[in-house]
Amino acid sequence: MRILVVEDDVTLRAQLVRAIGEAGHTVEAAADGRDGHYLGEVEDFDAVVLDLGLPQVDGLTVLRRWRTAGRNMPVLILTARSAWQEKVAGIDAGADDYLAKPFQMEELLARVRALLRRRGEHASVVWKCGAIELDTRQTRVLLQGRPLTLTSHEFKLLSLLMQRKGEVLSRTELAEHIYPYDSERDSNTIEVFVGRLRKKLPAGSIETVRGLGYRLVDPGCGDVGA
Ligand code: CA
Repeated sequence: MRILVVEDDVTLRAQLVRAIGEAGHTVEAAADGRDGHYLGEVEDFDAVVLDLGLPQVDGLTVLRRWRTAGRNMPVLILTARSAWQEKVAGIDAGADDYLAKPFQMEELLARVRALLRRRGEHASVVWKCGAIELDTRQTRVLLQGRPLTLTSHEFKLLSLLMQRKGEVLSRTELAEHIYPYDSERDSNTIEVFVGRLRKKLPAGSIETVRGLGYRLVDPGCGDVGA
């Protein structure tokens, strides 16, 4: 998945980027409200971690502007400890969840997972599609109960295809989820990655929809223990 982090504290920003990246996501980061607002406006994200106390434009204003513009990605706000007014204002402005600083990184990751599940309408942390089982907590994939070794690009592709199961995803859309914002996004390489991923999955799992993109077709998709 693709996550935006907007946080002005250099140390915390680096920690967030690392932890969310290690959880198997593509992370973009902005250090102030202006850049953060811009990224959230022009790019698609599956979730945003937004600090409220930001230079240039404060987090609440950023959030209100996104919502006014119809940007509906899930947003987790980071608030000052015990400032309950901030939480209320944040939720009123359209935040989906909040976390008070200081927080444990594990808790932040769990809340981000919950936001992503809601977005994908998954009720469980383990997603299943036929013989494929993806554990969103551990960046782990099982095929017929056995661990499947995937590169980070392959994992990101598979998790997006599973999250949006049955939907056709274009090469551009897949490329956006794999490559960082400022990199050269060559959607032709997506074909290569899909090709490699296909070889590791049961035959026919990923369907090519000519001229449109790819979709995960297994009819046995669902959540485990949902
Ligand atoms: Ca701050």
